[in-house]
Amino acid sequence: MDPSIIVIGAGAAGLMAAGRAAETGSAHGVRVLVLEKMPEAGKKILVSGQGRCNVTNAAPLETFLMYFGRNGRFLRNAFHRFFRDELLALLERYGVATQVERGGRIFPASGQAADVRDALLRYASEHGASIRYQARIQGIETDAGAGRPRRVVGLRLADGGFVPTQAVILATGGASWPATGSTGDGYLMAQALGHTIVPLRPALAPLTVEERARAKALQGVSLRNVHCTLWAAKPGKEARPLQVPYPLPETGELLFTHFGVSGPLILSSALAAVDALRSGKTVTLSIDLKPGMTAEQVRARLQREFEQYPHRQLPTLLRGWVPGSLADVLAEMSFITGDRKVHTIRAEERETLATLLKDFRWHITGSLPLAASMVTAGGVSLKEVDPITFESRIVGGLYLAGEILDLAADTGGFNLQAAFSSGYLAGQAASEAVRAEG
Ligand SMILES: Cc1cc2nc3c(=O)[nH]c(=O)nc-3n(C[C@H](O)[C@H](O)[C@H](O)COP(=O)(O)OP(=O)(O)OC[C@H]3O[C@@H](n4cnc5c(N)ncnc54)[C@H](O)[C@@H]3O)c2cc1C
Repeated sequence: MDPSIIVIGAGAAGLMAAGRAAETGSAHGVRVLVLEKMPEAGKKILVSGQGRCNVTNAAPLETFLMYFGRNGRFLRNAFHRFFRDELLALLERYGVATQVERGGRIFPASGQAADVRDALLRYASEHGASIRYQARIQGIETDAGAGRPRRVVGLRLADGGFVPTQAVILATGGASWPATGSTGDGYLMAQALGHTIVPLRPALAPLTVEERARAKALQGVSLRNVHCTLWAAKPGKEARPLQVPYPLPETGELLFTHFGVSGPLILSSALAAVDALRSGKTVTLSIDLKPGMTAEQVRARLQREFEQYPHRQLPTLLRGWVPGSLADVLAEMSFITGDRKVHTIRAEERETLATLLKDFRWHITGSLPLAASMVTAGGVSLKEVDPITFESRIVGGLYLAGEILDLAADTGGFNLQAAFSSGYLAGQAASEAVRAEG
C-alpha cells in the first residue's frame, strides 16, 4: 500500500513529525513513511550539544522567542501548542529524564544525545511509522491542476523511482555540517515548487579577521572572562555597537584560531556580523582584556608595576596580565620590541599598552562558510508557510518543519525546540488533513 504521508529526513523535525503523524493517524488508516538518505537517523542530533544534545531551554516563552530575532514571532503559535513541557513529557515517556544546566540549557540526564534520537525513533515506530534509509529524494511532484491550487502527488527518488503519496513533510534541515546529511537538498526541492528561499547565511560560526598573521601568532590562545564588543559602521559614518537580538553575557571565553576568533561570545554574534558585512558595513571587534578594571585603573596599575620592577623586560611583566604569546603580541603592537627593560619605556608607549589592554581591536572580514556553521540562517520564507499547520501556502499537502525554515537562534537548545515543535505540528496537521480527505 502507498504511504499516505512521507516525511523527508529523519532528523529532529522529521522523526517528531513522523511520530505525531502516526500517533494521531495510524488507528485511522494513515500510513507514515520516513525516507532518510543517510544509513542512520538523526546524525545531527548525535553531534548536538557536544554529544549531549541540549534539547531545549528553561527560558520563559517571550525570552525564548527573542533568541530567534524578528522571525521568532512565527513560532509563537506553535510554542503555545507544543513547547518545552510537552517535549520533556514526551521524552520522559520514552525513558529520557532531563536536567537543567547553566543558562537554562536542558540536557538528557544520561548526557547521551543518542538517548534522545532513540526515544524519537521509538515514538515513531511504536505508532507504526516505518523508516527507509539510504533513500535520497530528488524532488516533490505535484499535479499541475489548471486553475486550482497545486497539490503534492508523490516523490521522485534519486534513483528515478516514483512513490505516490497524499502529503509530504519536508524536514531536510539546513546546509550546515553536511557530513550529518544536511546538505541543503530541501531548499532546492522547495524552490523548484515556487517557494522563496531567503538567502542562506552561516549562523553560530567563527569569524575571520584581516589581521591573519596576528591571529596565527595567537592560535590556540583562549581568554576567559573578556568582554567583546562588535562595532559596525556604514561607509563614512560613525561606528555603532552591532545589534544582536538577544542579551549576551557581559564577559565570556574567546578563542583565537589561525583564521580569526571563535568561542561562545563570537558564535552568538556571528550572524549579526555576517549580515552587517553583507549590507556593506565594516565590522570591528574590540576585546576588553581587563573588563574588571576601568581604563584609569589599568593605567595606574601599569604605572605602579613599571615603577616597582624597572629592570624587568616588558613581555615578562605583561605575562602577569595576559597569556604569554598575547604578551609578546601586545608588546609588538605597542612598538616596544627587543629586550627593552621596563624603565626604558616612555610614557606614550605605556599609554598605548594601556589602551590595547582595554580595546584590543580586530577587523572582521567574514565568517567560516555555511558548512562549518552550527546553524543555517535563511531558508524557506515564513510568509509562505502557515504558522499553525506548517503547510505550504503554495503547494497543498506540502508541510515544512525544522531548520529548512527561515529560522535560526542562538545556542542554548532553541534550535532543537523549534525543530521538535514544528515537526510535531506539521505531523499532526498532515495526519488530520489526510484523514479528512478520507
Ligand atoms: C555541531 C552542532 C551542534 C548543535 N547543538 C545543538 C544543541 O545542542 N541544541 C540545539 O538546539 N541545536 C543544536 N544544533 C542545531 C540543531 O542540531 C539543528 O538546528 C537541528 O538538528 C535541525 O533539525 P532538522 O530536523 O531540521 O534537520 P537535521 O537534523 O539536519 O535533519 C535533516 C535530515 O534530513 C536528511 N536529508 C537531507 N536531505 C535529504 C534528501 N534529499 N533525502 C532524504 N533525506 C535527506 C538528512 O540526512 C538529515 O538526517 C547543533 C548543530 C550542530 C551542527
